[in-house]
Amino acid sequence: MHKPRIQPIFIAGEWRTGRGAPLISQFPADGSVNAELRAASVEDVEEAVVMADAAQRSAAWRATLPHQRAAILARVSDLLLSRAEELAALQTRDNGKPLAETRALVASAAGTARYFAAACETLEGELPTPRNGDFMTFSQYEPLGVVGAITPWNSPIASEMQKIAPAIAAGNAVLLKPAEATPLAALKLAELFQEAGLPQGLLSVLPGRGSVIGEAIVRHPLVRKISFTGGTTTGRHLAHIAADKLIGTSLELGGKSPTIICADANLEQAVKGVAYGIFSSGGQACIAGSRLFVHRSIYQSVLKQLCQVARQLRVGHPEKPGIHVGPLINERHREQVASYVERARAEGGRVLVGGCPPEDSALADGSYYLPTVIEGLPNHSVVCQEEIFGPVLVAQPFDDEASLLAQANDSVYGLAAGIWSADYRAALKLAEQLEVGTVWINTYKKFSISTPFGGYKESGLGREKGRRGILAYMQQKSIYLGLDPNPIGWCD
Ligand code: ADP
Repeated sequence: MHKPRIQPIFIAGEWRTGRGAPLISQFPADGSVNAELRAASVEDVEEAVVMADAAQRSAAWRATLPHQRAAILARVSDLLLSRAEELAALQTRDNGKPLAETRALVASAAGTARYFAAACETLEGELPTPRNGDFMTFSQYEPLGVVGAITPWNSPIASEMQKIAPAIAAGNAVLLKPAEATPLAALKLAELFQEAGLPQGLLSVLPGRGSVIGEAIVRHPLVRKISFTGGTTTGRHLAHIAADKLIGTSLELGGKSPTIICADANLEQAVKGVAYGIFSSGGQACIAGSRLFVHRSIYQSVLKQLCQVARQLRVGHPEKPGIHVGPLINERHREQVASYVERARAEGGRVLVGGCPPEDSALADGSYYLPTVIEGLPNHSVVCQEEIFGPVLVAQPFDDEASLLAQANDSVYGLAAGIWSADYRAALKLAEQLEVGTVWINTYKKFSISTPFGGYKESGLGREKGRRGILAYMQQKSIYLGLDPNPIGWCD
């Protein structure tokens, strides 16, 4: 009988079969198997951590100058671009996002590698002015050691590079645990780093269950920083472990982002923007604009237009051109999304569009769900408060700024918000009062690696991206140089 090849994983600089449980990467569009793997085992984690620690402490890696580490990242960026199509296709197979979106993820990852190459080359220490004349001080940035990076399945290559690039630029070693559903892109990244000349052991990619492999990484005494993107419950759990170890965390967590359409907004743009904000990626984005607030004077008209747009979106096979919404990550997740919609119905919500899988028999094998708009629920309802991570939008009218802000900010989350308005002054005033880490005005889901990103409240801790993003992976050492010929002068 033909035995399928087991995809090796990248442990301590070597490609080998993991010693953990069997793991399958499946195409969400039809359930076909992309690859069979064995997850990393706890012993694999141990080996990878010990090797990472040794590689990170090695004299050779310690001696690399910033521009030399930058050169590795620049090569990775070039390799990503030269294999962009292959990498986009791989991610689409892994997580079912339409190709247009996975191509953008590869471009983003390439840009991130370049950006942190530049950040690393141009990073400077500090030379504070001393408070008196008998010494000078300076403060330099040093790596932390071994960094654990844990990522979700929705934007694999981009979110993984957002962690690996600054961590390596800063001189650390990285253990990456990708989501169970999407191991392939992370493994491909490892291949590119190896080809770009990253010394052995500085990067391991360890697929496996979060509660086993992720936890083993986080708990390991040699792991000195956790960079995590995923759900708030997991993030909080990891923060507890990190607190016990007294190590730092960067946490990018969930969201329930409000989008606001003011009475004076360009409605055509706003409606398109709102639809893109929630329905692109099938709503499987922490920044999905999943709560819509519309000024009452235009509420009915906006909802009519929005439902039209939602109906016209092409839901279909993610490898076909022109598809707006692909399948959700798997059947289990589709059931969860559907159960939220059922809950909304039971609580008196009106489903204006969608609210079920598509009828197209060609899509029967995939975990598809139609773009859905619900209204008629109060802001405290479960569907308005919990992150659904699917193509489900809840709409509510608002009458004035005070009631709008009270509702928009009435959420445990604070990741992002959108404002559609013709009046930038009013929009900026509103933006300042929203308790969120990112506000888009007259646009949505636009990203720049040079702009810091992170959440308020239970949406996260710390910021990724931006020039200072590299500092999340460094620690500062201050040095005093005595200049006084009688430096201590104690009890003279
Ligand atoms: P999502 O709902 O986006 O999958 P999760 O927080 O469940 O969010 O998963 C995000 C990442 O965290 C995945 O790689 C997952 O395997 C990992 N993970 C889940 N539980 C744990 C845990 N207890 N310890 C470490 N990592 C975990």
